[in-house]
Amino acid sequence: MHPEKMGGLKMVFKKGQKAWNVGLTKENNEIVKKIGEKCSKTVKEKGIHKGKNNSMYGKRGLLSPLYGRPHTKETKRKQSEGLSGKPKSKEHCINMGKSKRGKPLPPLTEEHKRKIGDAQLGEKSHNWKGGTSFQPYGIEFNRRLREQIRKRDNYYCQECGINQNSLKRRLHVHHIDENKLNCNLNNLISLCYKCHEKTIYEKDKDWVGYYQVRMELRNMNILDLQEPEDIILEMVM
Ligand SMILES: [Zn+2]
Repeated sequence: MHPEKMGGLKMVFKKGQKAWNVGLTKENNEIVKKIGEKCSKTVKEKGIHKGKNNSMYGKRGLLSPLYGRPHTKETKRKQSEGLSGKPKSKEHCINMGKSKRGKPLPPLTEEHKRKIGDAQLGEKSHNWKGGTSFQPYGIEFNRRLREQIRKRDNYYCQECGINQNSLKRRLHVHHIDENKLNCNLNNLISLCYKCHEKTIYEKDKDWVGYYQVRMELRNMNILDLQEPEDIILEMVM
């Protein structure tokens, strides 16, 4: 039995016991409706539970209520069943691609290679961004500046929160506005190679806007970028 604190009440769940609110919605149950209203009122009054305001802040490892409670095989099977048939996210596809990286590919014919080459050249490439990758980095963007940025970011990837030490390779320093000559400190951010790659290959996302907002939040001390995303997720209840 694991006591869980919910809204000030101590609730004890036995394995296999059904939660009281199964199948109840705010449309068909007064209590569920009231809880929902109370929660959204609290969020409005106290603000969104982000960062250190989130009750789960910093509760990782031993401090996590889920520590030492791995999902049962039954739960894992249900989770996997729930996912099968659903369309995979772009990120998922990229990850699947990465897992195949380094494994041998079937050999390409000369004809095939030539076709790929023709199709992907320059402006025809889906990654074409107007030739910015040919732009040289400015003289200021040297090893010293890059190290300065990594140090400022405490050697954490500012997107996923991985630490350079656990990554076992240096963090990349990304130009937020994609202008390699703009070495304003606010335009530079430390990213692990995986998150940096996303800014290059996931071209449907507005990465410039995304990282500009993140830098602004960071400058306002709203976002603690030394913590991974899951800590800053909004609390549901
Ligand atoms: Zn990262």
